[in-house]
Amino acid sequence: MSEEPVKKPTNFIRHIIDADLENGKNEGRITTRFPPEPNGYLHIGHAKSIVLNFGIAEDYNGRCNLRFDDTNPHKENSEFVEAIKADVHWLGCDPKENIFFASDYFEKLFAYAVELIKKGKAYVCDLSAEQIREYRGTLTQAGKNSSYRDRSVEENLTLFNAMRNGDFADGEKVLRAKIDMSSGNINLRDPTIYRVRHGIVHHQTGSQWCIYPMYDYTHCISDALEGITHSLCTLEFEDHRPLYNWFLEQLDVPHHPRQIEFSRLTLEHTVTSKRKLSELVEQGFVEGWDDPRMPTIAGMRRRGYSAASIREFCNRIGVTKAHNVVEMAMLEDCIRSDLNDNAPRRMAVLNPLKVVITNYDDSKVEDLLSANHPQNEEFGKRSIPFCNEIYIDRSDFAEVPPKKYKRLIPGGEVRLRNAYVIRCDEMIKDEQGELIELRCSVDADTLGKNPEGRKVKGVIHWVSAKHGISAEVRLFDRLFSHPTPDNTKDGSDYTAHINPEALRTLSHCVLENSLASAEIGQGFQFEREGYFCLDPAKTADGRPVFNRTITLRDVWAKMQSK
Ligand code: ATP
Ligand code: MG
Repeated sequence: MSEEPVKKPTNFIRHIIDADLENGKNEGRITTRFPPEPNGYLHIGHAKSIVLNFGIAEDYNGRCNLRFDDTNPHKENSEFVEAIKADVHWLGCDPKENIFFASDYFEKLFAYAVELIKKGKAYVCDLSAEQIREYRGTLTQAGKNSSYRDRSVEENLTLFNAMRNGDFADGEKVLRAKIDMSSGNINLRDPTIYRVRHGIVHHQTGSQWCIYPMYDYTHCISDALEGITHSLCTLEFEDHRPLYNWFLEQLDVPHHPRQIEFSRLTLEHTVTSKRKLSELVEQGFVEGWDDPRMPTIAGMRRRGYSAASIREFCNRIGVTKAHNVVEMAMLEDCIRSDLNDNAPRRMAVLNPLKVVITNYDDSKVEDLLSANHPQNEEFGKRSIPFCNEIYIDRSDFAEVPPKKYKRLIPGGEVRLRNAYVIRCDEMIKDEQGELIELRCSVDADTLGKNPEGRKVKGVIHWVSAKHGISAEVRLFDRLFSHPTPDNTKDGSDYTAHINPEALRTLSHCVLENSLASAEIGQGFQFEREGYFCLDPAKTADGRPVFNRTITLRDVWAKMQSK
């Protein structure tokens, strides 16, 4: 293959970085990070952030940390930690040894909290969570000061240490930053920075702590401790930036990162909120986080999307500050074009109809060769056994053909792909009148060439009944039929828009025998049917299960234009 120069993405964040480098900031060093909370599996939205952060590190000879922002231990666990590591790695982004946990900094974060108290910038507050909410005020109304706001430094230090020692129950006391209860930015109205949580076994720190720092406080200090030069996050954190800056200005931290916000990825026909995805799992709408219908990285991998095509998608959508909803067709285009270039061609009959070839010796087996990839002759080349019993797809025969039907009809001819032309001579039906078999005859002169003087328009796929392997095939489609399931005009719940057709299981499929050696991770084009791959989880008992990755063409676009 020719080596095309890879076009590097450009976007407003890279422009800011270029300018920072020109101005000699951070001694020319670029460090980014991807900071997931390990409270779920990563989804396609995270992929955008991963590709952005790791891509910048790579292109600027910098580094990108994978840091788990693990301050909410009751929702987190090590299954999520391991899944996130595996997904980032699979996407082709390698944090190398730079994997960190915010919990690595708990001791330092505690010391910084003590520093805030000593500077008169934090206080222990006894208000209940409900009172704190009440006192906070609203967007149009200033908050009011807590009566505990003016505790002395000594008293605060004693109480904060007692919180750490476990002297108080959950919710009895919190540590709050002392900023401004009348600030126009609610985030600056004395936010809580530490809370008491007893009885939690944290996946990293065990039972060592009974107080936990809040996300906002932890996040900006973790970035500072790691020397992050450009802290890239989604737009909802724009209003938190003044708070992050406030913490970093009060404290003697080694570094002050520059935060830049960009818009989240919202993708049609799916949801990209971990809360909603975990509801889908917990309420049994899907089989798990890696269900191939899920927009999770693990789900997409299992469905047969390649890492390269997901990265290509992330680069195509670009990075801006504008809110927009990306069409599912764009992701599907990336998947399809990757598979078109890389998936070997195979034949598989999903709804089998037996065909007996009456004029073909029943002990004869021919080895037919196929090479039918548009770009590469060798690609998809394999031998295909042909004999007197084959399967074709039920939809490729019509007793009463609709208009323009080019496939097999009683008395008509059709070409078997990679093989002969056959003619349908007889239909065999059972007592109920159900068609169970066709009797056909083969034209021995038509292997690899057209019959003289006759036009055979239709070409259908087939599999030898004596050699084919039996399999289950699962046809996946978009998880939601509504383009924006969590933002509908009628305010309906997103679960009301789950597409019941998103999974259809076909249990009696027949695949050409070369697919017996299919490997997990390899995509195939089943000719005329779509792109498929072996399901790693379902195939354990010997009978293969194939997942449909994607259809050959965008059937949704066709439906919408109708
Ligand atoms: P969710 O809202 O799904 O729970 P989150 O933002 O809470 O996601 P985190 O684990 O905190 O999940 O996300 C890690 C990083 O990924 C953050 O920097 C966040 O900004 C980014 N991210 C999350 N969702 C998206 C998205 N849809 N598009 C782009 N970046 C995202
Ligand atoms: Mg978050």
